[in-house]
Amino acid sequence: MKCPFCGENDNKVIDSRLSKDGGAIRRRRECLACSRRFTTYEYIEEIPVMIVKKDGRREVFSREKVRSGLQKACEKRNISMNVIEEFLDELERDLREIGEKEISSHIIGEKIMAKLNEIDAVAYVRFASVYREFKDVNDFVAELKTLLSKHG
Ligand SMILES: [Zn+2]
Repeated sequence: MKCPFCGENDNKVIDSRLSKDGGAIRRRRECLACSRRFTTYEYIEEIPVMIVKKDGRREVFSREKVRSGLQKACEKRNISMNVIEEFLDELERDLREIGEKEISSHIIGEKIMAKLNEIDAVAYVRFASVYREFKDVNDFVAELKTLLSKHG
């Protein structure tokens, strides 16, 4: 590991700890040449999960895509970025636990909706309306009614 300050290769690890989400090991290092300190992260190499879409096309699961969908759904709701990131961590863990290289987009959509339903009813309906592509407004109202009766 090269020192970012002087380029020297020799350094010692002065502290090692697991990152907050447990997905990385954070190491504090000290350069043996210039004594300056820097931090490195070690990640487990993850095999990408492939999403199989309705029409059979495959695409790599993207945390960013899910995040932007969630952000849209959670707009102007009292939901912090932390909650969204935790949501994504949990979702990724769930997907890895399934242990399949390919997962149908349907399963992922249902998982997201189930989790979102626990967090915020409005965000849930917004997400569901996009995800399920409600054919007409009646479907949407029906969904909303079930939801309100559950939460009421
Ligand atoms: Zn150095």
